[in-house]
Amino acid sequence: MEPTAQNQLRVGVDLGGTKMEAVVLRLSGDSFEVLSRLRRPTERELGYEHIQSALADLVYDTVRQAGLTDMPPIGVGMPGSISRRSGLIKNSNTTCLNGRPFRDDVSAKLGQRVRFANDANCFALAEARFGAGRGHSVVFGVILGTGVGGGLVIPSISGLPDAWDGPQGIAGEWGHVSLDPENGPSCYCGRRGCIETYLSGPALEARYASLRGLAQPLSLRQIVDRRAEDPVAQQVLDAHCQLFGRAIATVINIVDPDLIVMGGGLSHLSWLYQAGATEAAKWVFSDELTTPIVANQLGDSAGVIGAALLP
Ligand SMILES: [Zn+2]
Repeated sequence: MEPTAQNQLRVGVDLGGTKMEAVVLRLSGDSFEVLSRLRRPTERELGYEHIQSALADLVYDTVRQAGLTDMPPIGVGMPGSISRRSGLIKNSNTTCLNGRPFRDDVSAKLGQRVRFANDANCFALAEARFGAGRGHSVVFGVILGTGVGGGLVIPSISGLPDAWDGPQGIAGEWGHVSLDPENGPSCYCGRRGCIETYLSGPALEARYASLRGLAQPLSLRQIVDRRAEDPVAQQVLDAHCQLFGRAIATVINIVDPDLIVMGGGLSHLSWLYQAGATEAAKWVFSDELTTPIVANQLGDSAGVIGAALLP
């Protein structure tokens, strides 16, 4: 069947812990056009029912703003995943969604089956199709921010990139590999010493505050700005970079992707791309590291664009 203008329209929603964003996209070949975009607070403290209604209202308003009368196919990206067995949300850091039939409830409100995927998978999918990973076959997207996540993209039968989430919906979750299950910092997943508890932004900020004896942690930006005159700031950032290299080397050893694309607030740390890659090279099971580790090109929009590519 020839695609019509209507079936190339897509709605994407990026549901985060603090904000939710929706876009209506028109897809055409290897480019896209944003027809409308709205962003609102998630207000997750108001609970499960509120988030469902707020998401549905956001989608209806974004579609109306685009001047459409019919609802296009909808994809939603969010932290966590949907259990294949039960259809319930798991692993979301918006914890009021865990154990709830969120996909079914949202689909009922919107009058169609909504596709869901992990937000890191959406990020990786958007960058593989339209951003830094364009033209590469297997792309691993890294999210280094409030949390540490990842998404794996492989070519589909049609040749277009497709997110691989695995039979348990956990593919790419390198952030919850435990490095020190006995004595490591506790993680929201219930274990200790996960990679996320060392590499996330809050982890880095807490490490600096602890070494400096600060009651309130400084922001990542402030720590970075201090590094010229404060050896402790430099030491914390160096240790973070070394651990990033060692942790990402395990991903490279297992997946050996054609490209790694970095997203999240810490992807602005320029040294991760050179010094981080040099550290990774020490731990990769190869005499050289040829995997490009590059910055994203779509910025904050990658999540919502990737969600629109799901249906
Ligand atoms: Zn964990």
